[in-house]
Amino acid sequence: MFEKRHPAEDTLTDIYGSKEMRSPAPTQFIPHDKTSPEAAYQLVKDETYPQTQPRLNLATFVTTYMDDYATRLMNEAINVNYIDETEYPRVAVMCGRCINILANLWHTPEKAEWKAGAPAIGSSEACMLGGVAAWLRWRARRKAAGKPCDKPNLVMSAAYQVVWEKFCQLWQIELRTVPLTLDCTTLDAKQALALCDENTICIVPIAGVTWTGLNDDVEELDRLLDEYNRRTGYEIPIHVDAASGGFILPFLNPECKWDFRLKWVLSISTSGHKFGLVYPGLGWVVWKDRKYLPDEMAFSVNYLGASITQVGLNFSRPAAQILGQYYNFIRLGFEGYKEIQQNSMDVTAYCHEQIGKMKCFKNYAPKVVNPLFIWMMDPEYDKTAKWTLFDLQAKLQQSGWMVPAYTMPKNIEQVVVMRIVARQGMSRDMADMLLGDIRNAVAEFEQLAYPTTSRLKYERREKQMGKVYTH
Ligand SMILES: *Cc1c(COP(=O)(O)O)cnc(C)c1O
Repeated sequence: MFEKRHPAEDTLTDIYGSKEMRSPAPTQFIPHDKTSPEAAYQLVKDETYPQTQPRLNLATFVTTYMDDYATRLMNEAINVNYIDETEYPRVAVMCGRCINILANLWHTPEKAEWKAGAPAIGSSEACMLGGVAAWLRWRARRKAAGKPCDKPNLVMSAAYQVVWEKFCQLWQIELRTVPLTLDCTTLDAKQALALCDENTICIVPIAGVTWTGLNDDVEELDRLLDEYNRRTGYEIPIHVDAASGGFILPFLNPECKWDFRLKWVLSISTSGHKFGLVYPGLGWVVWKDRKYLPDEMAFSVNYLGASITQVGLNFSRPAAQILGQYYNFIRLGFEGYKEIQQNSMDVTAYCHEQIGKMKCFKNYAPKVVNPLFIWMMDPEYDKTAKWTLFDLQAKLQQSGWMVPAYTMPKNIEQVVVMRIVARQGMSRDMADMLLGDIRNAVAEFEQLAYPTTSRLKYERREKQMGKVYTH
């Protein structure tokens, strides 16, 4: 691909004086010739250069800051494959300890020394494992009763994360969703139960809804589900998707019952790389008791030098994240996690309050319950505005911030919102910088003589639905 080194080039040639820097980068075929590591490094590095600084990316939930020791520890383990448990037995032990710690944070009743759970690449894999277990348990019960197993379904709010659509597609399970409204902003337990039947493998409430930052009320759902199961004779369980909430609720709201304290919560998944404060990718799934983890999901492999039981969709995976998680548990302890999560909450609450005070905006919910929130255009202001939240997103990107605007799920899909996730690494000072950039952007939009392209598109769509605008 790259032409041969220029005759005048030698090891003293500066990288930016090299042939590679005036040649196109490979996009289709592997280059024929070799490139010096310095030039290859610089090319790849420069390729990523125009991207957002990870810590200014307020769209992501995923960790963008870890301390120096954690970073060192993880870098030192970069060549360790978690799956090689025979070669790296201490990693497997650390993994088991992390599962124990999480199970106990979530009030497991299990007394066994090693609690039933698995590491995952993220919540996606963890959710899939929780979902598959629920499906297999349901199937075993149906088979034992001589009943058909060909029409499984799963019930959750329409504000699900895309993994649940994937899970249902891949395993051919019907996804039944309860729509949100602007008044009922979380899963309505009664409506969820109305969608259940003998083919429901589980209900999946969410602790830390990706779309809104709110929590489904798992305790209320469990109470109503208990009555429902008693009445119908079904045994529909709950899997809690606690991608964010699993690492927030235990520290900031320990009285809230959403976990294994509840009767029908049989499994919980979380993202170690979200508020578990580890770099990507790490997720966890824990079952209330080993008996809820079907035997079919545990595969034995014996070619690693010992017979080892594995639960997971992936085989090889990095061990570094597990070291990072265990480090965080030791380094921070309960109190340390609590301080970091509380700071993230305080910064979020501050942004929520400041955004709520601006006449052009309206917060989606009155309170912040996780370190993220969404807001919309104020309906009155929106009648005469010449811009949209998509314009604001583009404007903020010019100063490096990634603050996403998006439309809401089914039933309220006409509502455009904007979201901020404040993670470890987002300070009050940074929040003030962001709010300053938002205020400046709005001031600029208010000087517009004509509506933006995004605004015209929005109004065209709204007019089709019968709305009138006055500018
Ligand atoms: C982020 C998220 C997921 C997916 O998690 P990954 O760790 O990114 O795979 C699933 N469910 C919810 C509620 C989430 O917020």
